[in-house]
Amino acid sequence: MKNLKNFDEDCFEIYKEAVRNKDAGGKKETLSLIKPTIRLLYLDYSDKFRDNEIYNLTSHGFADEEKDYLIDLYQYKSAIIKKVKKKILDSQIITINATCQYCTLNSINTLDHFIPKGDFPEFSVNPLNLLPCCSECNAKKSKYAYNGEESLFLNLYLDELPEKKYLKADFDFSNGVPIVTFDLYNPDDIEESLYRTISNHYKRLDLLERMRLKSNEVITEIINPIKGYYRFNHDVEEIKKFLREEEIEFQEAYGFNYWKSVLRLSLIEDTEFWEKYII
Ligand SMILES: [Zn+2]
Repeated sequence: MKNLKNFDEDCFEIYKEAVRNKDAGGKKETLSLIKPTIRLLYLDYSDKFRDNEIYNLTSHGFADEEKDYLIDLYQYKSAIIKKVKKKILDSQIITINATCQYCTLNSINTLDHFIPKGDFPEFSVNPLNLLPCCSECNAKKSKYAYNGEESLFLNLYLDELPEKKYLKADFDFSNGVPIVTFDLYNPDDIEESLYRTISNHYKRLDLLERMRLKSNEVITEIINPIKGYYRFNHDVEEIKKFLREEEIEFQEAYGFNYWKSVLRLSLIEDTEFWEKYII
């Protein structure tokens, strides 16, 4: 999981363009009439975004037709949203720009409205409120973002991910294949509210279980090459050193607590793994 770079152009221009692209008629007229209000609301969003205080936003309270038209302005397949998505993805580093960073498990195939468009229809096409993700995460995230000031999900534009451990993997070697259990912990004192946000995020997106289900593949992939190294060199400590160095590069590319790295690093540090599967 890595932080994402946010859209850095004038967001209100996106609203204007989305309205411009609408067919002439009553909808377009209504959406044009409320432009001055939307402009102020976008400025407010940008201010609160800058201060990482999005939870302080209050809904303008658009109702009825205006609300419906605003929500309808967001169409995932529309030219303007495609343009926004492309712009956001193009500014990310290449190792992560096709993968959902909410989970790091699936490909990106949608955009999440960080604060829900049902409650905040005014921000349905605000690029600062749109995070690329997978449909599984988007469905699990549903319409919640905050409980008071408490963040229920990581906002990857704003919540700086710590370069400290928070994900661990433990193994049960009593079967033919190592069985992994992921858990969160905080051995290096990540600041309390950030750690709570991380915990909420992992819990609500069911990440520990979703990672576990994908782990067998990773474990199988690592055993054969290690057996290969061992055949040439019986110095286990030297192989471990080499594997650790390799993971540092993966962490750089995919995030400090990238689940596959955590899995592989924990596995190679386990003496039982070496005794049962390699030596
Ligand atoms: Zn996802």
